[in-house]
Amino acid sequence: MSRVQIVLFSKNGWDRGAQGVAGAGRRLADGLGAELHAVVLGPADDALKNGLAAAAQKVQVVSALEEYQPEPALAAAASLCDGAAAVLFGNDTYSQEIVPRLAHRLGGAPMADAQKLEVKDGRIHVTRSAYGGKALSEYVMKATPAVIWVRSRALEPAEGDVGGAVEEATVELPEAKLRITERHEEAQEGASLEEAEIIVSGGRGLGGPEPFEQMLAPLADVMHAVQGASRAACDAGWVPPNWQVGQTGKKVAPELYLAIAISGASQHLLGMGDSKVVAAINTDADAPIFKHCSFGIVEDYKNVVPLLTEKLKEMQS
Ligand SMILES: Cc1cc2nc3c(=O)[nH]c(=O)nc-3n(C[C@H](O)[C@H](O)[C@H](O)COP(=O)(O)OP(=O)(O)OC[C@H]3O[C@@H](n4cnc5c(N)ncnc54)[C@H](O)[C@@H]3O)c2cc1C
Repeated sequence: MSRVQIVLFSKNGWDRGAQGVAGAGRRLADGLGAELHAVVLGPADDALKNGLAAAAQKVQVVSALEEYQPEPALAAAASLCDGAAAVLFGNDTYSQEIVPRLAHRLGGAPMADAQKLEVKDGRIHVTRSAYGGKALSEYVMKATPAVIWVRSRALEPAEGDVGGAVEEATVELPEAKLRITERHEEAQEGASLEEAEIIVSGGRGLGGPEPFEQMLAPLADVMHAVQGASRAACDAGWVPPNWQVGQTGKKVAPELYLAIAISGASQHLLGMGDSKVVAAINTDADAPIFKHCSFGIVEDYKNVVPLLTEKLKEMQS
């Protein structure tokens, strides 16, 4: 029986991204009439093993890969994914690094940033954004295996429980010729933008760094939200670069994305287009963001944000 393989790095555990990859893998395997197998690169905790075993018939853990190094990770993935019809990864940086190299090594074809996977006439079709988010393009994967990283957090988790088996994989790991010698983790308090359920994002129309701190931070606080920003606000140095949402920033998929004084340029929309509900506050009724939101207020943010914060505080007290 043919198989679809998913590959996860253990570092993030059974987070929303891992659940999205497992869901995409399960549905793709069902569409192809194949089994789903999972590989975890690195030591896995119980939540990750159990979550994967519910979605995949077989889960192989490579605990020997204690920290990510590209060559041993690639060698393990190549050895365990050989013969698969398709190999799916999430949208973390490690996955994005490995996907093209693994596709080459397995004689298949790579694909990046898949938003939708379908099986039509036995072939895998991938939908992804094109032209900076202005269009969608659909690709037919002809080479085998199709090695794809998906926008995992925006994809539905798997349903049901297939009761898969979990085992330790024994693979030969080569000595790394190239090693990552130092890592700097982003300083971060609370949830990351990618994991956030609610995001309060600000743009150039705020006019400076102070409103982020004095108005948007209290609003985000009362909404239990994580703060984000447009590139214009980040480039101006008003907020840190890692707050940037968009084509060249973070791809987010919250339940609610509140865009304040953000025009809604296509490059920004590309990063937050998977949000379940989008709301916007903008003085310009013709701002493109209003074409992409469920709720909007045409008003100066200074007249709305403090009121909204007060009202939400009242409701919570
Ligand atoms: C290759 C490339 C990659 C890019 N990647 C990204 C990316 O990842 N993320 C990203 O965000 N951008 C990206 N950009 C930039 C993008 O094209 C826009 O320039 C940027 O998103 C604009 O940011 P903004 O909406 O904050 O500013 P603006 O477009 O200037 O919009 C400001 C908005 O604030 C409103 N406003 C003004 N005053 C008020 C007020 N008092 N109250 C309420 N509303 C008010 C205005 O009506 C306006 O709509 C990229 C561009 C390129 C070329």
